[in-house]
Amino acid sequence: MPSASEIPNITLNNGTSIPQLGFGTYQIEPKDTKAAVLAALETGYRHIDTAQMYGNEKEVGQAVAASGLPRSEVFVTSKLNNDAHAYDAALAAFDRTLEKLGSDYVDLFLVHWPLPGVGSYVETWTAMEEISRSGRARAVGVSNFQIAHLDRLFQETRVVPAVNQIEVHPYLAQDELRAFDADHGIATEAWSPIAQGKVLGDPVVGAVARRVERTPAQVVLRWHIQRGDIVFPKSVTPARVAENFRLFDFELSSQDMAELTALDRGERTGPDPDTFNWVP
Ligand code: NDP
Repeated sequence: MPSASEIPNITLNNGTSIPQLGFGTYQIEPKDTKAAVLAALETGYRHIDTAQMYGNEKEVGQAVAASGLPRSEVFVTSKLNNDAHAYDAALAAFDRTLEKLGSDYVDLFLVHWPLPGVGSYVETWTAMEEISRSGRARAVGVSNFQIAHLDRLFQETRVVPAVNQIEVHPYLAQDELRAFDADHGIATEAWSPIAQGKVLGDPVVGAVARRVERTPAQVVLRWHIQRGDIVFPKSVTPARVAENFRLFDFELSSQDMAELTALDRGERTGPDPDTFNWVP
């Protein structure tokens, strides 16, 4: 098992450092979250991805506290929920996140969805700029933003998001948006990196896995790492939590990489950010 120190760090556009491999907590029930996050921290993960929408920030905070690790050694991300897309509402929602996490700062805070039909992501971003200025989030960014949404932020606001967290996996390679992010100094984070398991039975993934003598999940996660994206696979299964952490003692060839990228078929597992306007 690699140690936490073997996980590469990515430097964000404001100088903050983020471990390239983390642990996702979407769809982990609050009652199961503390144990799952503690298991991940014990395995060596030092980056946890949560969100107001997941309803488990409090339990993530409890796990970080119970781990005995200094707070500064764990990178914690949370995200603003869709019902707080206005300046004051966003600031108040951020305060609740810190309260739930039991911390006086969060490492990264994201606007979870652009909600173009609601139409207030520019105003919401100005609240994120204020949060960034206050120092209570070490970095701020966005999630599910398309090129047009980012272009509007560039034109109408000052702070460039540190990350854009978007759906990426071999069935949705997102090369245009990833290149746009990179051209503007925005790090891409790949959510649902194994498409919630849907890519693992693909015959091409299987063939590459046999070639490098690794599991399909390790091969797909390694593909993300070699593309330079940040990933945080989710699992409540201890053996998988360990499996997903062992990505740094093998390499994919350029041919393996190309075969996996060629699986792209523009297939989403989650909502389309251009039409998703759900507010709780
Ligand atoms: P993932 O692509 O990480 O897949 C998780 C699923 O795959 C679970 O069902 C898990 O099962 C299974 N799994 C995990 N590891 C393995 C393995 N080694 N072999 C076989 N099956 C495996 O999906 P997520 O949607 O959870 O995405 C990861 C994270 O990204 C989220 O947890 C969340 O933090 C973030 N996210 C962000 C979104 C956004 O809008 N910003 C949207 C969606 C996700 P089991 O748990 O039963 O072991």
